[in-house]
Amino acid sequence: MGKPTGFLEFTRELPKKRDPQQRIHDYKEIEVQFSEQDSQRQAARCMDCGTPFCHSGCPLGNIIPEFNDAVYEQNWAYAYEILASTNNFPEFTGRICPAPCEASCVLGINKPPVAIEFIEKSIAEVAFEHGYIIPKPPKERTGKRIAVVGSGPAGLAAATQLNKAGHTVTVFERADQIGGLLRYGIPDFKLEKWTIDRRLAVMEAEGIIFRTSVNVGVDLKANDLLEQFDLIMLTGGSTVPRDLPIPGRDLKGIYPAMEFLSQQNKRNANLPVEVDHRGEKYADGDLWAANKNVVVIGGGDTGSDCVGTSNRHGATSVTQIELMPMPPKDRAENTPWPNWPMMLRTSTSHEEGCDRHWSINTKEFVSDGNGNLKAMRIVDLTWKNENGRMQMVELPGSERDIPCELALLAAGFLHPQHNGLLDDLGLEYDERGNVKATNYQTTTNPNVFSAGDMRRGQSLVVWAISEGREAARAADCYLMGESTLEAKAVSMIEVA
Ligand SMILES: Cc1cc2nc3c(=O)[nH]c(=O)nc-3n(C[C@H](O)[C@H](O)[C@H](O)COP(=O)(O)OP(=O)(O)OC[C@H]3O[C@@H](n4cnc5c(N)ncnc54)[C@H](O)[C@@H]3O)c2cc1C
Ligand code: SF4
Repeated sequence: MGKPTGFLEFTRELPKKRDPQQRIHDYKEIEVQFSEQDSQRQAARCMDCGTPFCHSGCPLGNIIPEFNDAVYEQNWAYAYEILASTNNFPEFTGRICPAPCEASCVLGINKPPVAIEFIEKSIAEVAFEHGYIIPKPPKERTGKRIAVVGSGPAGLAAATQLNKAGHTVTVFERADQIGGLLRYGIPDFKLEKWTIDRRLAVMEAEGIIFRTSVNVGVDLKANDLLEQFDLIMLTGGSTVPRDLPIPGRDLKGIYPAMEFLSQQNKRNANLPVEVDHRGEKYADGDLWAANKNVVVIGGGDTGSDCVGTSNRHGATSVTQIELMPMPPKDRAENTPWPNWPMMLRTSTSHEEGCDRHWSINTKEFVSDGNGNLKAMRIVDLTWKNENGRMQMVELPGSERDIPCELALLAAGFLHPQHNGLLDDLGLEYDERGNVKATNYQTTTNPNVFSAGDMRRGQSLVVWAISEGREAARAADCYLMGESTLEAKAVSMIEVA
């Protein structure tokens, strides 16, 4: 333990954020640099409590007290070694993880928890800066060929681990660039895309082959894939958005959030915006929020990203509505420490300006008479507990129209796309429509594995990395009879 009295001497501090009025004019990261000394002071707050719940709060099982100690000792190379033993991409999780580890930090019982996420980011950035992250190709190749389909965090983690085990890995991606939702979903102001390119350069130098603009199932048929590779790892994400089929849905001005967000990612990368990242035409070639009243339907992360992007476009007003009731301001009683707390979360995008409303249902999209969206008809709800199930009831007389020329549907994703590759492979689906797999191996074809949102359902980057790593280990065991890849320490606390 670095500093026994650190938690008594230092308070929790996070990197400063740029002023909202300044940052809404660009897509650069919001937090300013955290110095090595700041990180050291924050790491000194770790109590080395003996039973580190943070370790099991992290879906990757990150060995947090040990890397905190190494940071306190300013032994950054060792801190990175510890962190990289469980997490392939701390530069991503250190920026965009909701940090369930912090919710289960023992210090957090009666003081603000250790700033684990930002310590993690610091370790990754110092490691890149000091040259501790260098390509490490495997010494020997096994001769086994593996296709990874989908290049989000699950696919990238699986590819890194399988390559490390000596297999020859090709990653197929139907979009024109690698990264999945890291690239075409999560806004640049949360994750600048050079961070992905920097990591891809390391992976390529380690021998991983990347093939973009290949829609597997269409450009490369399922049977050809099975013939050409010894094992298929499916990490195609959860891509079918939840729609809102109410009157007026066909009006111009209503779009899935992903269309809006990925188009802005393309703009930031100076790529043409008329077609989407897969080369297909957008419904609106220049989906733009300036001078519009924007309503974001859905209170989650995707919705919050639409809020931040709409403000950057210069929207007249931005409103976010949610069907469910407003969560409590503090940890709800039914999610006590060390669980992931059910509570109100205010993102940096919300801080930049947004009207948030809960317990609202959308009844109709209202036309201006020329086929364009003019308003949204909404109604207030109350929620009643009937035999343990929450039932929504409309409040009589609360129906009203709110001005809206741009409605963004951010109500989540249903499951992966079935038609095409998955159906062609003859896979089974679970009750939610995700790929059914036991220990990541699909139930109908032993040579086909699946991980990430495609198997788990819509989740988090940290879970995608965890799934990719675990699936790689299971696949390596299947191919070789045993695996030298690291096994995860058991994670006990479920989040998202
Ligand atoms: C807007 C938004 C914001 C988010 N913000 C956060 C956040 O701040 N923090 C966080 O932890 N999580 C966040 N998430 C969730 C997180 O991004 C996902 O859980 C994670 O990316 C899932 O990783 P994945 O690798 O399973 O799939 P994805 O990242 O979805 O990648 C799947 C890839 O597979 C490709 N693919 C699919 N089918 C084929 C095919 N047939 N052939 C070739 N390629 C194919 C797709 O094009 C895609 O690139 C966010 C999600 C969204 C939508
Ligand atoms: S990956 Fe997320 S949960 Fe795990 S230690 Fe980092 S911030 Fe915490």
